Parts: sequence; C-alpha cells; structure tokens
Amino acid sequence: MTQSIDRRRFNRGLLAGGAAGVMSPWAAPFAHAQNGANYTGPNVVIIRFGGGVRRRETIDAEHTYSPYLRHVLAQRATLFTDMRIASQEGVVTSHAQGTLYLLTGRYDTYSDIEGKFLSERFEPKAPTIFEYLRKTYDIPAHQALTVNGEDRVNEDYLSFSNTHSYGVEFRSSVLSLHWFKIFALREQIKSGGVDGDALAALQKKLAELEARNYRGEATSHQVPELERFWQRWRLHYGDSGFKNPRGDRLLTELAVRALHELRPKLLMVNYQDPDYVHWGNLSHYTRAISIIDQGIERLVQTVDNDPLYRGNTVFVIVPDCGRDTNPLMQISCQHHFNSKSAHEIWAMMFGPGIAQGNIVNKPVDQIDVAATIGYFMSFTPEMAEGKVLADALL
Ligand SMILES: [Zn+2]
Repeated sequence: MTQSIDRRRFNRGLLAGGAAGVMSPWAAPFAHAQNGANYTGPNVVIIRFGGGVRRRETIDAEHTYSPYLRHVLAQRATLFTDMRIASQEGVVTSHAQGTLYLLTGRYDTYSDIEGKFLSERFEPKAPTIFEYLRKTYDIPAHQALTVNGEDRVNEDYLSFSNTHSYGVEFRSSVLSLHWFKIFALREQIKSGGVDGDALAALQKKLAELEARNYRGEATSHQVPELERFWQRWRLHYGDSGFKNPRGDRLLTELAVRALHELRPKLLMVNYQDPDYVHWGNLSHYTRAISIIDQGIERLVQTVDNDPLYRGNTVFVIVPDCGRDTNPLMQISCQHHFNSKSAHEIWAMMFGPGIAQGNIVNKPVDQIDVAATIGYFMSFTPEMAEGKVLADALL
C-alpha cells in the first residue's frame, strides 16, 4: 500500500470518527471481522527503549546519548515528552511490568505465578496486542514477533494471556538466544551424531532450558518458518553462541534478519542493556543507550530500504520504565524504585498518518500505547484502558 492511500484512510477515519472519538479508519469494514480477515493496514515496529532509561539521557536534546533518535528521527516523528507510568497502588516501575502495561494497555498488579519472592514469572492478565491482532486478522505466528534478550528468560513467556477466547492460539512468537539454544540442542540430539554420555549431557541441558517454560508445552514454538529461521542462523553463527553479536546488538541483528526473512506485520524489539547500571557503572548505561540508538537507526534504514515496508510502517519507540534521580546515590540513576522519575518516560512515533516534527508536552500514559497501536492496526483492544494518542495523528 502506498503512503498516500494510507494518509487518505487515516484522514477519512478521523473525519468519520470525529477527532474526539478517534475511530479507526478501518473500523467500519472490519467491525465484525472474524478470524481469517486479510490484514491490509500498516506494519508496526515497537521498540522498547528498555532496561529503564531517563528522559535526560534519551530525549533531552542537550544531554542525550541517543543523537539519532533525538536529532534525526524526531524531525519525522511525534515525540510525547511527558508520557508517564501511573502512580497507583500495585503499579511497579520495572521491566516486565512496564512491558506488560505496553502489551495489554492496563495497569494490572503482577506477582509471581507461585508467589515466589523476587521471581517474576508473570502471565498477562488481559490479552496482549499480539492476541488482539491475530484474533482479528489472519496473521501467522511467525509474522507477529517479539525479539528478546537473554538476561530475562521470563520475558520470553509474556507472549500470551489466558483470557477467555484469546490466549496461546494468538500468541506472539519469540526470537531470542534462549529459543535458539533450545532449537540447536534439539537439532544436535536429532542428528544422531552423538551418543552415550555426550548425548545424555545434551538431553540434560535441553531439559533444563525447557524447564524454564512456566507457561506449558504449548509455547514450544515449533513453527516451520521459525525452524527455518533458526536453521539459517545456525549455519551462519554455529552453536557456540560466541560468534553472534552480544547484548542489545544481538537484538538488532535478530530483528533485521526477521524483517528480511519472516516479513512480520507486528514486531516488538525489547532492548534492555541500559539496566546494567544496576551494577554501579554509569558508562554501561550511557553506552547501552548509544547502542540502542544505533540499533534504531539500522532498523529504520532496513525499513526505508525495503519496498514491502517503506512508507507503510509505523514505528513506536517507548521505554519500559524510567530510572531514579537520587542525589544520595553516587550514581543517581542506578535503580528504578518507584520514584517520581522512574515513572517519567516518553514515546516517539512516526510513519504514515503521523505528524512530523511534532512535540507534545501534555501528560499521556504508558497504557495509551496499546490503544494507539490498535488504532493503527484496526483492531479493538477491548480490555485495554488507555486512550488513542490522537495528538500524534495528522
Ligand atoms: Zn532494572
């Protein structure tokens, strides 16, 4: 679809729905869409500028370590400078929680599924945007993708809720080193090239990795397109895990390959490395922000250079949570303990139908992101509680 058609549709939608109602431009034809409706809307790439970042080191033009985002992308984007995570009982300014607020459009209270202290085996309490999308449209599992790091394996299992009539059937597929390792071990065992103690060791390792799945066998991800994706990855990088890029650079590599090979309609990239500042070294934080900035530049260029995505893809960039500004600590942003600035985030979005060079300073909410993605992709996130970010729209 061309950009001009998109624009016309957005504009028509705004006129039809009225600026206040902000009806989705595709709402009418798909109001009663059943599973199997063909998806013709824009692709969406969500970038979690994650691991908890403050406004100061990201969107503050004077102090940013993310110059591409702040000085280049901002010119073609709408920037919400005052997005917030609500201050209310049960809301936690941390990584998995913020990710769940983004995915579900709700501030639910989360605790470990078995109440284990400091364990974060969460289950989304309402459908995720992936479930809404795949329930509304016929989009295969390998085209609704989440790219995750390897430090928080629990996040690989946030990919679906247990909500009635939603759930695992409509999940997002996950690309991460954790899933690659499971794939590679299964392949090594299947190959028949190992036996005896070596085989037993591989089986033990595989069982350990599989045991980290607290959502059940249904998430085993044996989708043929993903198996082929990992086969190609394995041919290129081998099994050692040493040849591939590490940390957030790995996420960029996975996401770029996914765009080329799997052609996702909805892709979420969950960066995380600024969080290494917990260990007490400020340069880990600022350097990680720059690496994410480079990753964003590469993803935007990948989209701009691809006829399938160019002019037909919306980017939404948003942190999972902020960080403290604690003058009593040697590193003031070391943690994110529910302080005022840990609630202070932002969002940047650009693509067809979105105003360019637009800075919106009024307060908006992290849970508004899900409703806004529902608007772009023409699905109704019926249990989400946020509003469509209409100030971003042309
Ligand atoms: Zn953290």
